[in-house]
Amino acid sequence: MGSQDNTASKLHVVLIPSAGMGHLNPFSRLAATLADHCKVTMVSNVPAVSSAESHHLADMFSAYPQIESLQFEMPPYDSSDNPDTDPFVLRWEMISRSAPDILNYVMKSSSVPVTAVVVDIPIAASLVPLAKSLGIPCYIMYISTAAMLSFLSYFPTYCDSKTTADLSDVEIPGYRTVPLASIPGVLHDPKNLFTKQFIQNGRVVLKADGIFVNTFESFEEDSLAALRDGRVQPGFPPVIAVGPLMPLNMPASGASEVFPWLDKQPENSVVYVNFGNRTGMSREQVRELGLGLETSGCRFLWVVKTKALDSQDVEDLSEILEEGYLERVKDRGIVMKGWVDQDKVLRHKAIGGFLSHSGSNSVIEAAMHGVRMLAWPMGGDQRICAVPVVKSGLGIWPKSWSWQGEDKIVSGKEIGEKVKEMMTDEALLAKAHLVGEEARRAAAPGGTSYQGLVEFVQKLKDQV
Ligand code: UDP
Ligand code: UDP
Repeated sequence: MGSQDNTASKLHVVLIPSAGMGHLNPFSRLAATLADHCKVTMVSNVPAVSSAESHHLADMFSAYPQIESLQFEMPPYDSSDNPDTDPFVLRWEMISRSAPDILNYVMKSSSVPVTAVVVDIPIAASLVPLAKSLGIPCYIMYISTAAMLSFLSYFPTYCDSKTTADLSDVEIPGYRTVPLASIPGVLHDPKNLFTKQFIQNGRVVLKADGIFVNTFESFEEDSLAALRDGRVQPGFPPVIAVGPLMPLNMPASGASEVFPWLDKQPENSVVYVNFGNRTGMSREQVRELGLGLETSGCRFLWVVKTKALDSQDVEDLSEILEEGYLERVKDRGIVMKGWVDQDKVLRHKAIGGFLSHSGSNSVIEAAMHGVRMLAWPMGGDQRICAVPVVKSGLGIWPKSWSWQGEDKIVSGKEIGEKVKEMMTDEALLAKAHLVGEEARRAAAPGGTSYQGLVEFVQKLKDQV
């Protein structure tokens, strides 16, 4: 994007992420990329919800001193109105309620005037109108896929036109039908806090000056076209595909013992199993998954998670897994709890497949490294994100597997068979490598995603 010229030194972009590693990771990557071209400030809301977030923020601001850190102390929040709400969704609500204070604080603390703000989708409904009322261009960073952005943007229209309280398949005319079975379960409850936020954020998308999406052209050509040509909503703001955003250049976070082990494994032989930073699995399902990995005959690196919040995930592996399991698999698998540096794992030559919940970041990271996926969506946007996985040829998705709290256990036998199917499918491996090449080409100088950011920076320069 060229070195910073005089105009660039007057540009100041302020990023306001919400909470959850799935949000902080892409925001940090965007901050680091933009910091090569203009002044960048990133707001963090403290204290962070999870320990993974606290560690990440500390590591990032120390490795990237060029990104200015602005810490906003969250006021206490009475959650008695929403007692069972996910802690991350509650935090999104707290940030939304504090939006005027956050923006005031940003404006007061900035020595260089703010040229544009980039806000996270869960907090967009409060921040976009406020920033616009102050005359500041406001962009949204959409951390999920273009397919999910289409669904989010059309959902309010669907809700306004439906005649019964129940949800059904959502047909987005001229684009695609999102089947009822793929809709985030929580949206069935109109009173749920997430549902209210989702509808408000879906409406506000149209008011943003532009929307960054962590995807790339060839991965989601159809969804990007439908958004841009007004089929999803007429008058849609510019959609700028910026993915895959490049991982930060800093020392690996989390468990380090996995890497010497991976170094000793043959190329493409290990299946990496991780369901993201906020999906806990029942003990019974964990045990079946363990059996599946064992019977697949493959080597594996498995990060076990039984609780959504890392600070509550304290049970010992020996209490969770069947007696004798760890001993039986010790020669060909690592089973661990905690955090691994997923980027470093996925880029390792030994990794030949990824059993994943198909969280949006995991999908784009697998695409970037050309790693085959076995998608097991568990909830939220994950089924919608599994569509481009299959469509692009990056992976497979057994659609009958359990989904968002269904009282159904997928058997170890079935899991073992699918893991083996993925790991022995040479055509899938070749196709995934091709997807990886396309992804890296999009992000490299001259590529479509790189160019999207160049044009964004140029547009800001033209405005100052
Ligand atoms: N992640 C990681 N190590 C872990 C678990 C997760 O580095 O042990 C990262 C992963 O690379 C991704 C993010 O955390 O960037 C999780 O986001 P995703 O959208 O995949 O899933 P979520 O956790 O939001 O459900
Ligand atoms: N999301 C959205 N609109 C909102 C809030 C969230 O489109 O108002 C997206 C969010 O970015 C994520 C998906 O919906 O991609 C599902 O969110 P989930 O609760 O699974 O958590 P996340 O993956 O964001 O951590």
